[in-house]
Amino acid sequence: MAYEHEIDMDGCKGCGLCVTACPKDVLEISDEVNVKGYFPAFQARPEDCIFCAICCTMCPDVAITIREIEAEAAAQNLTEGENE
Ligand code: SF4
Ligand code: SF4
Repeated sequence: MAYEHEIDMDGCKGCGLCVTACPKDVLEISDEVNVKGYFPAFQARPEDCIFCAICCTMCPDVAITIREIEAEAAAQNLTEGENE
């Protein structure tokens, strides 16, 4: 099963709760403001994400989503396999 982690940058208020809660130190606060004038969280090290969903649970604004992408990932893996 593959997953995709997405942060709604414009829905984020930059409180930093997810950054502190992440056990893998994946997230950081951006130095660029969003449409609301906040500095939003972003995945600085997405390759370290284990999709534990702690950040989703912590976010008071429900700005983080983790989705299953099994079909797309399987198709991508198949394509990559063909190119090897
Ligand atoms: S899903 Fe877990 S590992 Fe990934 S960014 Fe969120 S808290 Fe960190
Ligand atoms: S917990 Fe939510 S609102 Fe706070 S920085 Fe993280 S994504 Fe943004």
